[in-house]
Amino acid sequence: MRHADLRPCAGCGLGVCRDGSSFFYRAVVTQQIIDSGAVQRATGMEMMMGGHIALARIMDGDPHFTAEMPETVLLVCFPCYVSKPLAELIEAATEAAERESS
Ligand SMILES: [Zn+2]
Repeated sequence: MRHADLRPCAGCGLGVCRDGSSFFYRAVVTQQIIDSGAVQRATGMEMMMGGHIALARIMDGDPHFTAEMPETVLLVCFPCYVSKPLAELIEAATEAAERESS
């Protein structure tokens, strides 16, 4: 990471090495939205192929089952890494990114 890429911790808003650690965490999180139509089509193909999943994938072209939402990048200090739930960290990072972009 370059200096310009460093941001405050998504959990506490302080420096990512605030506890004197020589490390922190960078996580890339991407929400996946299920494409139920694609899953149903693949299931139907598997049934047509007598339950042979590998053969069904070849016949169906191994379709995508999900659409990806834009990724969220989190920088997290060690104390927040061990104490805060992931959902809270993602929400804080998303809000910080929205503030930066506006
Ligand atoms: Zn923190």
